[in-house]
Amino acid sequence: MIYDLIIVGGGPAGITAGIYAARKKIKTLLLAKQLGGQPTEAWQIENYPGFESILGVDLAKKFVDHLNKFKNDIEIKGGETVCAVQPLREPFSESPPENGSRSNDALFEVATDKNKYQTRSIIIASGVLPRKLGIPGEEEFKNRGVVYCATCDAPLFKNKIVSVVGAGNSGLDAALQLTKYASKIYLFNKYPAFDKADKEYINEVEAASTVTIFNGALVKEIRGEKFVRSLVWENTETHEIQEVETDGVFVEIGSRPSLQFARDLVEFNERGEIIVDSQSNMTTVPGIFSAGDVTNNLHKQIVIAAGEGAKAALSVYEYLRSK
Ligand SMILES: Cc1cc2nc3c(=O)[nH]c(=O)nc-3n(C[C@H](O)[C@H](O)[C@H](O)COP(=O)(O)OP(=O)(O)OC[C@H]3O[C@@H](n4cnc5c(N)ncnc54)[C@H](O)[C@@H]3O)c2cc1C
Repeated sequence: MIYDLIIVGGGPAGITAGIYAARKKIKTLLLAKQLGGQPTEAWQIENYPGFESILGVDLAKKFVDHLNKFKNDIEIKGGETVCAVQPLREPFSESPPENGSRSNDALFEVATDKNKYQTRSIIIASGVLPRKLGIPGEEEFKNRGVVYCATCDAPLFKNKIVSVVGAGNSGLDAALQLTKYASKIYLFNKYPAFDKADKEYINEVEAASTVTIFNGALVKEIRGEKFVRSLVWENTETHEIQEVETDGVFVEIGSRPSLQFARDLVEFNERGEIIVDSQSNMTTVPGIFSAGDVTNNLHKQIVIAAGEGAKAALSVYEYLRSK
């Protein structure tokens, strides 16, 4: 079977694209490593219209429930990871072939960890993955004290001493979530002052009695035996090396686009994000569209990802109709 559209991703962008594609009766398959996307990792969402305040997991569930309402019009496969996408047939750039054998549409193969599929168009909505520190001890103690998701893992550190690395919104959000569980929280900011986080977050973190802030502190190494025991950092002003005891390290230094499977296919910007046309959300390859955090869109927010997902699906509809 050949699908008209395969959507890679089940976060706000992919789910919204799925809803629009189903409503347009496009023969669609949605593949997602994890349905719900990043909102499942966010704590309180307070900027999604219609919900003054809602837990990230609850909003993600509402998105997934909404998509499931269209089950008769869209195939949904959660827990399936896309590993490679390759063109089987390039679109004819100008006139159709003279013998009139085929229309000038593209055809792609999408390979996952479970299967292979063919499709006439694709929407890449695969979001982002957390950035790594790349320091000694990080890989060794991954999931043995080193973690990347405060919402998922904060409850594991009840009455423990933890360190948060990163002082943007994610880092401060993680520190605040940890105040509900950990006995002591060290927050490491490599810059001399907070320069990337929102004022509301900064005020809350500065007021939290269990949070100790280290500004101008470059984290150098994570040490331990079976589990994390300590964290080594350098004072960027004095270059003095110090070590603090810690039971856990939350790495919160931002994210990178998740698209290893499309590396050789579409064009990227210097941040590794997929370049899309702002009108249509089409990439540089006809038939491949993209939406949400994985694109070169500057602002990474749920409402924007959802809007882009809708735009991409409607553009796919126009694209397929033109073939
Ligand atoms: C802690 C935290 C708090 C946040 N708080 C807010 C907030 O309060 N308000 C707000 O507006 N935004 C917030 N955000 C940002 C918001 O969650 C993102 O902008 C939004 O989720 C982006 O949606 P997306 O669909 O583009 O990507 P994602 O939500 O990242 O979804 C990507 C999807 O693609 C899937 N995927 C990835 N790779 C593959 C693959 N190879 N094969 C198959 N599937 C794949 C994933 O499993 C997932 O389903 C927060 C983010 C975090 C991490």
